[in-house]
Amino acid sequence: MLKQITLAAIFALGHSTAIAGQTIKTTESERALSRLGDLRPDTVRRRLSELRPPVYQPGPVLLNEIIKRKELTVISGERVERLKAALQPALAYHERDGKLPIFVVRSEQPKAYMAERAALIITTKLMLIASEAELRGIVAHELAHEYFWEERDRAFKERDESSLREIELFCDAVAAITLKAIGDDPACYARALERMTIIGATAGNVTRSETKTHPSLEARVKFNRWLCQQLGQGAVIAGRR
Ligand SMILES: [Zn+2]
Repeated sequence: MLKQITLAAIFALGHSTAIAGQTIKTTESERALSRLGDLRPDTVRRRLSELRPPVYQPGPVLLNEIIKRKELTVISGERVERLKAALQPALAYHERDGKLPIFVVRSEQPKAYMAERAALIITTKLMLIASEAELRGIVAHELAHEYFWEERDRAFKERDESSLREIELFCDAVAAITLKAIGDDPACYARALERMTIIGATAGNVTRSETKTHPSLEARVKFNRWLCQQLGQGAVIAGRR
């Protein structure tokens, strides 16, 4: 019964057209959501705290290495400090406020990523093109990667592409859920993804078509839309009340 309702909910995502290949994508979204149990705020919060790994504490040497090895130019100043302050609600939801070094680096690519679980890197271009709420969503996606960090590493090594895309969808779901929980509009996450794709073209983390590691932009936007509906209604996808 539970399974049936969950499946019905996933099919509402728009993957119900029975063409070859779509089945896999349905499974990826379904599996991504099953990692959370259901979408009730308290259930998700509990589930995430169970999954949450201890804070990774990189030494200053590793941080310097990351910056040096990647030849990143770190930007500082008032705007960067304001951004860091604006991100705090998203970081706090994941118990990473004040515990994760954040660097803004000069780049024409709109990107954010976790560097070796040790630091959060945000580019100047992303800072320029995304609103604060959108940045909180993007950062929440990056923070969500920590929950399945090792599994993702393994999937990379084993070239398990479907698992990689599933983890991306899990992070997308967490991004929307985080925004909702901290009082932002969860739909702004998909808008940011779309903008990042248009501006970043095929570079960076977001691409228009499905890749070995990421679902297509269309699938991610559709997934976000469906999630927003669910979150807006306070619905429980597992069908329990
Ligand atoms: Zn990701």
